[in-house]
Amino acid sequence: MTRISDDDLKDAFATRAVHAGQQPDPSTGAIMTPVYQTSTYVQQGLGEHKGFEYARTRNPTRDALEKNVAALEGGRHGFAFASGTAATDTVLKLFSAGDHVVAGENVYGGTHRLMTQVFGRLGLTFTFVDSRETDRVAAAITPKTKMVFVETPTNPLMRITDLTAVAQLTKARGILLAVDNTFATPCFQRPLEFGSDIILHSTTKYLNGHSDMVGGIVVVNRDDIAERLQFLQNASGAVPGPLDCWLALRGTKTLAIRMRQHDANGRRIAEWLEKHSAVRRVYFPGLPSHPQHDLACRQMSGFGGMISIELGSLERARAMVEATRLFALAESLGGVESLIGHPASMTHASVPKEMRDAMGLTDGLVRLSVGIEDVGDLMADLEQALARAGK
Ligand SMILES: *Cc1c(COP(=O)(O)O)cnc(C)c1O
Repeated sequence: MTRISDDDLKDAFATRAVHAGQQPDPSTGAIMTPVYQTSTYVQQGLGEHKGFEYARTRNPTRDALEKNVAALEGGRHGFAFASGTAATDTVLKLFSAGDHVVAGENVYGGTHRLMTQVFGRLGLTFTFVDSRETDRVAAAITPKTKMVFVETPTNPLMRITDLTAVAQLTKARGILLAVDNTFATPCFQRPLEFGSDIILHSTTKYLNGHSDMVGGIVVVNRDDIAERLQFLQNASGAVPGPLDCWLALRGTKTLAIRMRQHDANGRRIAEWLEKHSAVRRVYFPGLPSHPQHDLACRQMSGFGGMISIELGSLERARAMVEATRLFALAESLGGVESLIGHPASMTHASVPKEMRDAMGLTDGLVRLSVGIEDVGDLMADLEQALARAGK
């Protein structure tokens, strides 16, 4: 039997998810990529080896994951890391003291912390802007700017950045556009197709999808950036272990089918919450009432299970997150099981309060990661929790 090759997998996403980057194990024919739990590889002679010398530099399980996610994003090169944060850290190391980065003001809290408290200290400078407005991104670019870094949709306010417009801007100025695609996943949004240069993910979230590992990945098309990233991946060494790569790879196989269910549940719950008298505001790009719904529809083919709701006060938010029974109160998102969280005190606690308030990331905001459970059960759980939160 001739195995399908990666070149045959250019079209259908669900097929790529299952097959890209994977070949039967050459020594046994095992259909699943083994967990190559090894630190080193025996050389046949001095300088003679099979492309694997030391496992910080390369590992076959990691290779398979990197090829798989790169294929899903429509990119040529993937680099896996020990966390999404380590992926961001490595991308920022493409630059030097004195360089400037423009970032979305509503990026993940840990990204904001890494930029301001680690790389800021090392001499990179950052300007945070509301990247919903392309003009604000343009205005923040200086002769020292090397990269624009955005998340779309953002966490947890579901703001959308116009990827085509921002990519035109960065291309015209010869600088890079990096997109954290963790929320949408390549199932629903492929930023390389809109002209972005660097895609980042926390694989901890939807790509793995089962809340059983922490990891990150970077995907690029350009060979020159890939060469620098490969150098940095090895030189800084924040690589994932083979078992975590294997778990992420198991996750991506079902990405297409999981995202379909997250999306169906998410739409249903967002529509229902919007009509609920106990909810002041619903943030979900799939709702026609979302101020950027048309843009979201142009660059995304689905919206997933991330929904934020405004309850008006910390007391009501606390009452709700402590009352759900199916939705577990926990950090993180994107797993098959539903989670509920309070961004101001959890994921975004590291963002200064003045900045949170200015953005509308209030103490009354509650974030849902809608899982793939029965949607009726999820709605019943939210209903009883909202009743506890009162009006
Ligand atoms: C979780 C997350 C990160 C950080 O990833 P870790 O794997 O937790 O280090 C970055 N960006 C987004 C959008 C995230 O949700």
